Amino acid sequence: MFLKRWHEQSGGKMRDHYEKFVELSNEASRMNNFSDTGAYWLRNYESDTFKEDIEGLWQTIRPFYLQLHAYVRAKLRDHYGEDKVPKNQPIPAHLLGNMWAQTWGNIDDLVTPYPGKTSIDVTPEMLKQGYTPKKMFEMSEEFFTSMGLLPTPPEFWSGSIIEKLAGKEMVCHASAWDFCNGKDFRIKQCTKVTMEDFNVVHHEMGHIQYFLQYKNLPLVYRDGANSGFHEAVGDSLALSVQTLKHLKEIGLLDKSTPQDHEATINYLLATALKKIAFFPFAYIMDKWRWDVFDGSVKSTDYNGHWWKLREKYQGIRSPVTRSENDFDPGAKYHIAANVEYIRYFVSFVIQFQFYKSLCMTAGQYDPHNRSQPLHECDFYRNKEAGAKLRAMLAMGASRPWPEAMRAVTGQDRMDASAFREYFKPLEVWLIAKNKELGEPVGWDSDQ
Ligand SMILES: [Zn+2]
Repeated sequence: MFLKRWHEQSGGKMRDHYEKFVELSNEASRMNNFSDTGAYWLRNYESDTFKEDIEGLWQTIRPFYLQLHAYVRAKLRDHYGEDKVPKNQPIPAHLLGNMWAQTWGNIDDLVTPYPGKTSIDVTPEMLKQGYTPKKMFEMSEEFFTSMGLLPTPPEFWSGSIIEKLAGKEMVCHASAWDFCNGKDFRIKQCTKVTMEDFNVVHHEMGHIQYFLQYKNLPLVYRDGANSGFHEAVGDSLALSVQTLKHLKEIGLLDKSTPQDHEATINYLLATALKKIAFFPFAYIMDKWRWDVFDGSVKSTDYNGHWWKLREKYQGIRSPVTRSENDFDPGAKYHIAANVEYIRYFVSFVIQFQFYKSLCMTAGQYDPHNRSQPLHECDFYRNKEAGAKLRAMLAMGASRPWPEAMRAVTGQDRMDASAFREYFKPLEVWLIAKNKELGEPVGWDSDQ
């Protein structure tokens, strides 16, 4: 019921405004010599084949997504029953633990492969040790400086808002800001003491590090190599922070915690619920808007098209009947606030490329050595890895993004193979598990 009300009260109220907005936004884009706003957004990626490239990346990820989807559906059926979660059908969207079913980390407890085994959710331990938002930000900063990257200036600490202010109405969506004067950089985040927010802290601090590294460039170059780069920096570091090895090092996990196969599968599944589950959502957020802006979807089909994409790509379905009186895309912040979203898809691909490359630089990963799997790498305190990252960050937007990519990875294109490498043990496990459960992969698209 909460979910339904949210969609009515947020998206539902802006449907007419959005239609008008599309018209005006396209007009502005045409004045800038772009055919529509979708085309205007894509200028940022400096590629004539960008949409095809994204589709290609999705096709690389999709077989793995289908395995995760099937496994999660089987576990949800165990919990809620056959009538609620039928075989061969898309999953009802409200069962995935997130308002938009965009990441599924909140149902980890329902789907964890080996309950009672090691979990990376160290929230209880953080609370026990008296963590505060301030401490979480200090630790994140220390991770950056341990790699030889830049500390934040005093203005960051005096100007940022890292906790929700009592009695004040705030937009709590976390964000990082460059005031473009070379010293004032701030974060606004209603930080809670949880492992999830600890990751968000690193994400936002990644933006700040980028700001710091390119602050002396001319203003037009003070930006990410493309928008996806800006989103990927902090997340690459967070992959290192969340390893069992690192959590042990900073005292959030007991040193004697075993890292056996079962712990590994739990770890990778928990990570997959956040990372893999996100791809089709991130894709359709802009696929829907590309279709709306270029006129191939009319306002009479806004909501229908949204749910068609949700079903086709995510394999989820609305739990209640929807119509063109609703406007469910508008219930997502980035559509209401008109923030381009494919940057997050790009970010989720390239953060694994960055991570893999930094791990190899740090001597923590060797693709030919099975005793050193990618998901166990922690490049904390590694100055060589820091220097590589710095070389890319310091370029800002002064070079085409493939050049920035080359500075860290030696590759000049987006590539989902690092991602597949990271999750390989889980993929093998999921394929076997779905067979064992007799769970068919995929869903019938009949509606
Ligand atoms: Zn961000």
